[in-house]
Amino acid sequence: MTKWTPEKLYQKLKETVIGQDDYLKALSTTMWLHDIRINMQQKRNGLQTRLPKHNLLIVGPTGSGKTLALQELSKLYGYDLLIENAAEFTGTGYKGREVPEMINDLYIQCDKDVIRAEKGIIFLDEIDKVILSVSEKRRSPGANVENPLLKMIEGTEVVVDNEGRKIDTSNILFVAAGAFEGLEDIIHDRIYGKTSIGFKNEECENQNNAAENLLLHVQKSDLIKYGLNPQFIGRFAGLVALHQLSVDELKEIVLHSKASVVKSMDALLQDSVGVNVEADEAGALAIAEKSIMEKTGARGLAYIFHDILKNVLFDLPGQSNVEKILLTGDSKKNPIVKMIRGEGNKEIKEQMSSQKIIAENKRNSAEEYVDHILNSGRQFLEQCTIKDIRSIHLLLTSIVLYLLDQCNKEDQKVESIIKVLNCAREPHSFEERSVYELMIESSTRKDDEISEFEKVYLECKKLGITSKQIDIAIQSAYEFDLHPIIHSKNEKLSSFETE
Ligand code: ADP
Repeated sequence: MTKWTPEKLYQKLKETVIGQDDYLKALSTTMWLHDIRINMQQKRNGLQTRLPKHNLLIVGPTGSGKTLALQELSKLYGYDLLIENAAEFTGTGYKGREVPEMINDLYIQCDKDVIRAEKGIIFLDEIDKVILSVSEKRRSPGANVENPLLKMIEGTEVVVDNEGRKIDTSNILFVAAGAFEGLEDIIHDRIYGKTSIGFKNEECENQNNAAENLLLHVQKSDLIKYGLNPQFIGRFAGLVALHQLSVDELKEIVLHSKASVVKSMDALLQDSVGVNVEADEAGALAIAEKSIMEKTGARGLAYIFHDILKNVLFDLPGQSNVEKILLTGDSKKNPIVKMIRGEGNKEIKEQMSSQKIIAENKRNSAEEYVDHILNSGRQFLEQCTIKDIRSIHLLLTSIVLYLLDQCNKEDQKVESIIKVLNCAREPHSFEERSVYELMIESSTRKDDEISEFEKVYLECKKLGITSKQIDIAIQSAYEFDLHPIIHSKNEKLSSFETE
């Protein structure tokens, strides 16, 4: 027996997703049914169960919590969740992705595990975008994706690899969502009658609320009127609507949701620099009002917060006495962040300052190393402009900093420089990744060193490193390898590496 009930799932979801009660309840029930259905199926050893699939159709604005809630529940149950944009798919033979490809995506996401994929969940976003107008359907009936989707939802077998491995889609749960702009007019006409002026007559501000409240009364017949295929709708047992989040709900998200951007930044900065991040009522309200004004919903909260935080973040790693960053409101009710000073977390501060010294030493050492490369390759540099030399210098510095972390064997150093320089010539030749990404990914540096390194690299990029400059840097690096000074230099460099 599963330990979850729809009620328990709903209570758990409420810790993260604020508001949207109807949706949370409908989704909890949907997931619970999916789970007991899969369990029953397993007990019967694959024999079809009579319990029908409980696919869910959602109407609601973007950034209102649809995906977040589904992600939380699938994580809780351990089912794989694939998120697809329905608008990317087209009918067979038309330009775009074909519907069966989404089963392939699910298979790959499940690490090519057929059993996992066959009980997974597919979230089809922007389902309203697949609706073709009547004339479009008449002109090119094959372009309609509703029919192949219908088959997929109903249950079919899709071959997913060259060995003929198949995925049976009959137990995959489908959740489809769309904003269905303009749907409220249809609902309005159904409730009040076409001739009635209903909410349309009210004050402008109330109109929005009224329109949103109307969405909560959505019925399948409204969606059919909107243009969705009745057979398609028939494959969804549940239909539920979400509303645009209110200021109070957005404020609540900032202050209390487990997915609050303030809480995630707090966890990040606590762990790396020992600084707390908090929001007070005024800050949460200010950021919520701004996001309503910008019409960006809950998704906008993160953008606004990061935007006002960016300058503080830039300075933060260099400061040792910051204890807290507070999101609050100024006298004009604009959101601002304040650095609250104090002792900070001693242990992390000490660790940071020792890392800083090592980073500085490494940087000086790298600069010297590069100067020598350039000096010894002087004859090549004579062909260069000052801008060229600066670019090469920066490029080499960033690479040498990287190599100081990466190369244990001295005799590999120049070889490695050349290898990385060659990657720089064709940024996408190296496993399709840019040199910078490659270096960052394989680097063991701490964040503050990365940002130092990043500055150098970005400056190189800004100057636009050319193939010619890379050639010259390679030549210089070869020259350096032959130069007698390298031997005394190497001893100095290796002492930094072991630090
Ligand atoms: P959509 O409704 O378009 O699927 P999401 O669920 O992906 O939007 O929401 C985007 C982000 O906004 C989430 O990651 C979350 O941080 C925040 N968010 C949206 N709605 C809510 C909500 N009701 N409660 C808490 N956070 C939310």
